Amino acid sequence: MSNCRYCRNPLNESQYRQNREYKSCPKCSTEDGAEHVYYPYPANFGTTPLRVTPNTPDGAQSYCTRCRGRDVGPFPGGRRCSDF
Ligand SMILES: [Zn+2]
Ligand SMILES: [Zn+2]
Repeated sequence: MSNCRYCRNPLNESQYRQNREYKSCPKCSTEDGAEHVYYPYPANFGTTPLRVTPNTPDGAQSYCTRCRGRDVGPFPGGRRCSDF
């Protein structure tokens, strides 16, 4: 597993930016292969009570809705670690 060239954290690990207004998608980040790829959160991820855990108190989905198969094509406005 590769790490982000910018923040050095694993690409398959969710990262948050800007007071949790952006979250990285582990799948999109892994596919990018270089940096974490962020989308507006939770709008582009969605939440479910089934996912409420100590690590995800708001029940956020790990993958973006696109990776979970509800949308087609990359989200506009995706940002990478070096964009923040
Ligand atoms: Zn990163
Ligand atoms: Zn994704």
